[in-house]
Amino acid sequence: MVTKNLITGGSGFIGSHLAEALLARGEEVYVIDDLSTGSIENIDPFKKHDLFHYTIESITNEPMVAELVDRCDTIFHLAAAVGVKLIVDRPVETIETNIRGTEILLKQAAKKGKHVLLASTSEVYGKGSREKFREDDDMVLGPTTKSRWSYACSKAIDEFLALSYWKEGGLPVVIVRFFNTVGPRQVGSYGMVLPRFVQQALQGGPIVVYGDGSQSRCFAYVTDVVDAIITLTHTPEAQGRVFNLGSEEEVTILELAERVKAKAKSDAEITTIPYEEAYVAGFEDIHRRVPDLSRVREAIGYDPKYNLDQIIDKVISYFRSHHDLTSPKSRTR
Ligand code: UDP
Repeated sequence: MVTKNLITGGSGFIGSHLAEALLARGEEVYVIDDLSTGSIENIDPFKKHDLFHYTIESITNEPMVAELVDRCDTIFHLAAAVGVKLIVDRPVETIETNIRGTEILLKQAAKKGKHVLLASTSEVYGKGSREKFREDDDMVLGPTTKSRWSYACSKAIDEFLALSYWKEGGLPVVIVRFFNTVGPRQVGSYGMVLPRFVQQALQGGPIVVYGDGSQSRCFAYVTDVVDAIITLTHTPEAQGRVFNLGSEEEVTILELAERVKAKAKSDAEITTIPYEEAYVAGFEDIHRRVPDLSRVREAIGYDPKYNLDQIIDKVISYFRSHHDLTSPKSRTR
């Protein structure tokens, strides 16, 4: 029998890559997405596929979610308000989508005993200063007056709820904390740095670094991440557990800008602007963000295929072949 998967947020960046990978495995895919940050173009290539179905609707529509959960065996819950810029600009929407949507989804999945993969985020570690973040580390969040932290808090509630369903009723759920994930189809409009730098480099600049650029991140390629989450849903020992997922190759944001510029053969200028100009007054950035990947390596032998240089090349060639995304209309600043 063909496995049936529901992807909430399936028209988004990661969701659409997941849909593609599941279809390639010969599995059936149902997508629910309200197109708030996802885009219909992301799923265009699959629309004619016999095993692909999509519904444009919010995950807060409980009867609709109930119906879709009924039809599927596994639910990949990716629908969420994402992107630091979006979160700072629209905090009410962030909290409501992330909490109410997940509440509905988990309730329906628990009722029907379906497998769930819950997408969470490295934001939940907050400002912790660990060398590498481990799944059992404390959350170190800023005050409620700073909207950024509403994202981490809402996702932490999602995790608590999922783990509670697992503990109380045995809901087969796996939680994944995505670190910075990049690749084709990710757009810069919601603040993500790599597509912004690539678009800026291809448009002739400037490439705008926030703060002094000494903050660092690790970037994982989307297909590596997607393969890992599919494997995790097929790993019974992963149930009821939280996994970091990403890359351990650390780079400062200034160095990232320089590498993008060199690889795009761009003569764009690299400039810096203060955080308060980029976001809002008093914005708190995360200085370092590196995952400890021991747990996911032990569980599924996670071994990402792509390093940062290859990833930057892939993103540059994606934007080069999508001229519309580098036109003045889609300028990132
Ligand atoms: N950033 C930047 N220029 C941009 C967008 C982001 O310098 O146009 C910085 C941002 O301040 C942060 C890092 O790049 O320090 C990663 O930002 P992103 O929003 O991609 O991810 P996150 O902050 O969630 O790790």
